[in-house]
This record gives sequence, C-alpha cells and structure tokens, in this order.
Amino acid sequence: MQYSNRVLNTPSSFIRNILKVTDSPEVISFAGGLPNPISFPVAKLQEGINRAIELNGSKVFQYSSTAGYLPLRQYIADKYNRTHNLDISPNDVLLTTGSQQALSLIAQVTINSGDGIIIEEPGYLGAIQSFSMSEPTFYPVALEQDGLNLEELESALKQPNVKFIYTVPNFQNPTGLTYTAERREEVYNMIKDHDVILVEDDPYGELRFEGEHLPYIAAGKSDNSVVLGSFSKTVTPGMRLGFIISKNRELMEHLETAKQASDLHTNIFSQYAIYEYLTHNEYMEHVHTIIDLYREQSKIMLDALNEYFPKDVSFTVPQGGMFIWVTLNNGMTALEFFNKAMEVDVAFVPGDPFYTSKTNVNTLRLNYTNSSPEVLVEGIKRLANILVATPKA
Ligand code: PMP
Repeated sequence: MQYSNRVLNTPSSFIRNILKVTDSPEVISFAGGLPNPISFPVAKLQEGINRAIELNGSKVFQYSSTAGYLPLRQYIADKYNRTHNLDISPNDVLLTTGSQQALSLIAQVTINSGDGIIIEEPGYLGAIQSFSMSEPTFYPVALEQDGLNLEELESALKQPNVKFIYTVPNFQNPTGLTYTAERREEVYNMIKDHDVILVEDDPYGELRFEGEHLPYIAAGKSDNSVVLGSFSKTVTPGMRLGFIISKNRELMEHLETAKQASDLHTNIFSQYAIYEYLTHNEYMEHVHTIIDLYREQSKIMLDALNEYFPKDVSFTVPQGGMFIWVTLNNGMTALEFFNKAMEVDVAFVPGDPFYTSKTNVNTLRLNYTNSSPEVLVEGIKRLANILVATPKA
C-alpha cells in the first residue's frame, strides 16, 4: 500500500509518543498539557447533562446543524462582545470539535500544496501537525519575550502565497509567553494592508493569573481576523468543544463546507450539556478557582527552578496558562537531557517538535498544572541534579 505524501510528511505527535513512555505511575511527568482534573466541574456538568435531556428529549441524540447549537453560539457571541468589545452575532461563530479541528479546517480551506503559513517559532506542535496535512510551506518567525519578531515577520510577509499567520497571543503553548499590548499593535499595523488572515488561537486567555487582560491583535478591527476559542482548558477537554469566531462571511461559509465534509457537525449532546452548564452556574467563579490553582502551581515550579537550577539555565515566567519554557545554555541538547531525565523518572517535552526549521535544540517545555506541590518540587530537584552533575561543554 502506498500512503499519501500528505500523511507521510506529517509528523506523528511526538507528545503522544512521549506520553506512552511516561505513562507509568512512578514517572513524574511535566510532559502533558493536561488541565488539572480537579478543575473539571463534574457534579455541575452532570446536572447540566440531566437538564439537557429533560428539556430537549430526543433532540440531544439527533443529527444537528453544522454551525452548532444556536443558543450556544449566541452565548459565545454575547460573551465575546461583552469581554472583548467585539460586535459579533451567532452567524460569526462556528462550533468545532475542539479548537484542534478549527486549525485543520482553516488550513484545508486556504492552503493549496506549497502555499505559505507564517507560524511562531517555537509554535504549538498540534498546529504544525494539523497544518502539515495540507502540505504548506512554513515561514517560521521567532517568538520573543514581547511577541513575534517584527523584522522576521516583515520579510515572511514578502514570501509568495502566504495565506495566514498563526499566533497564540496569550500564554503561548509551548513558551508560556504573552504578546505585550505594544507588540500587538505593531503586529497589527504591519499586517493590516496585506491580504492575509491572522489567526489568534486563544484557548488559555481566561487563565490569566498575573497582570491585565489585553485586547486581541486584529479581532474587532479587521475582516481578516479569526479568533479560536475552546472549553477544553476551562470546563472539560473530553467534550471536544471549540469554536471559530470571524466576521469574514466568505471564509466562514467555506469553513462550514469543510466542516460538513469532515464530521457533519460537532457532538450535539456535548453542546446542549455545556450550554445548560454555562447558563446555570457562575462560570467565572469556576474559572477563578482554576486561576488560583495554576497561579500556585506555577509559583511552586518557578520557586523550585530559581532555587535548584544552575544560573546558566533560563526560563520564562508565565502570566497565565499552563507552561514554562526552559533554555539550557550548557551545551546539552534537550533530547540528551530528556534521556537522562527518564533515567530518574522525570519527563518533559524536548523542544524539537515545536520547530519547523530546527532540530537538536536546547529548549524544552515544562507543564505545571497536573502535579501536586510535592511532586513539582521533587521533579525539579531531580532535573537540577542532572544539570549540576553535567560538566559544561
Ligand atoms: N491550540 C493550542 C494553542 C493548544 O494548546 C491546544 C491544546 N493543547 C489546542 C489548540 C487544541 O485544544 P482543543 O482541541 O482541546 O480545543
């Protein structure tokens, strides 16, 4: 059997492969990007599920519309109008099977083989994987402390057939970095006269534990804006509920066609259930419990990094979200470090799969949301022991 170039050239998920190795109970894993299960509102979701069935009967088990359950789209539109000062209607919202599906649909409707995608480097590996299925040319632009590097962005925009720019402006996966207000404006000013879509993938935006919420880069300002949202990090990832927000009618119609071809519609049972959950509970109160938890967990990991890691190792200090990004600076690659870490039963994700143009990098991703305080400290101590014991190259 000859398989398609599309799949043969798509990286299989490095993280899932790592998670297979790190799955045993004695391994301390900072590898996954899993929300803390104590943040799932299980009892309240159960009430929502019961209410959804009581109120809607067999409709919750029937086929449904591709765009999604109208009251849920209205809820999302109202919320973003209120919190982000947008001016959207339910027609500007398309429910997707997680925001992961949104990524694949966007690439499917815009990319012919070889067309350009500008992507943050390092960037979300699930996006790299999903876009790869459309056989694009990636134009990586360095993600710095303040956001995309502007000089690199300017030259990437000069490349042929660039269709969209993919960004995660808040608490980025994998770096935990957030674009400053100033850099958002600079990026917007640079792209506004180009015929290119700006995707702002924002599954973590509500999980800010330091500083002020910032406006989106292009949402509310440009018809070429696409914002992606998700309930995965704030309510539950298992229900697979994400959404696309865009006022670009033509784009939304193509996305709906692609979605129809892909799965007809997003799980309608989940949509009814989450709608009942959202409209009968204090959602923001729930989000604040997650924020308090992640603030504490990030602080414990950061304190341990400051206390035990050698000073030549640098790391980001996130203002929200789930990740810290470490740069080794000691001559060791992240893969070498990973192999040594596995010998002492600690896992993380080496940086390699987050780059489209580099290998043998010296960066790595740590997740702090899924470990207890004791485990966070113990894992960092074990990693520090390896670094302290390794002579400088
Ligand atoms: N975008 C980013 C930046 C992510 O980190 C993730 C989850 N790891 C997703 C999209 C996909 O999330 P979901 O499909 O669960 O909404």
